[in-house]
Amino acid sequence: MRVALFGAAGKVGLVLGQALEAAGHEVVDARESGVDGCDAAVDFTRPEAVAGNVERCLAAGVPVVIGTTGFDAAAVDAQAREAGVPCFHASNFSHGAVLLMRFAEEAARVFPRAEIVELHSETKRDAPSGTAQATAARMGTEPTIHSVRLPGLVAHQVVIFGGPGETLTIRHDTTSREAFVPGVLLALEKVRALPPGLTVGLDELT
Ligand code: NAP
Repeated sequence: MRVALFGAAGKVGLVLGQALEAAGHEVVDARESGVDGCDAAVDFTRPEAVAGNVERCLAAGVPVVIGTTGFDAAAVDAQAREAGVPCFHASNFSHGAVLLMRFAEEAARVFPRAEIVELHSETKRDAPSGTAQATAARMGTEPTIHSVRLPGLVAHQVVIFGGPGETLTIRHDTTSREAFVPGVLLALEKVRALPPGLTVGLDELT
């Protein structure tokens, strides 16, 4: 597949570009080469860049896998529906984060009181993280979210449940950006068969 990568020089983009090529894809830097002739695009940029990047892709009929968090998902969904092009977004492409959300949803049925601590690299622009918001939505109990931004961190999340006489802690740590690669490869494989509009969440692909 010929893949246009937005954010190729970023922290995730650098790891992803190499991994996509190792998996047999041809990768072009979307900022330099555009998206014409590509089978799909991948966006790991910044929230305010997503709408413009998606618009360029939709104009060329190119489906987009969006990893960037903190963008206006409803607006992108409307854009993609109107253009009749499928797009996909996951707030976290790592297997562990998907499992954490599933486990937290189950635990919230037993422990309605919980708080989320999400910890990320100091350069992350949005807070709270998209993963923390998605986890809270799955739990349905409106947990308070605490955001930590420090050097040395990659992406981490702790959900602490409290009940009479006990607590339960669920934790996920991303130690390298390689963790996001399998989820992006899966999304690239599936995105073109999705309905027009924005599909959200890795659970929708399996
Ligand atoms: P980063 O290191 O800041 O990289 C972002 C890159 O995007 C920079 O090289 C930037 O270049 C480039 N860029 C900005 N606007 C652009 C545009 N319009 N077109 C093309 N490139 C553009 O950030 P990161 O750590 O890689 O993270 C990127 C995004 O992915 C963030 O929103 C983060 O929260 C998200 N993320 C999601 C997941 C997930 O699993 N869904 C995992 C990790 C990170 P300049 O500096 O030259 O502007």
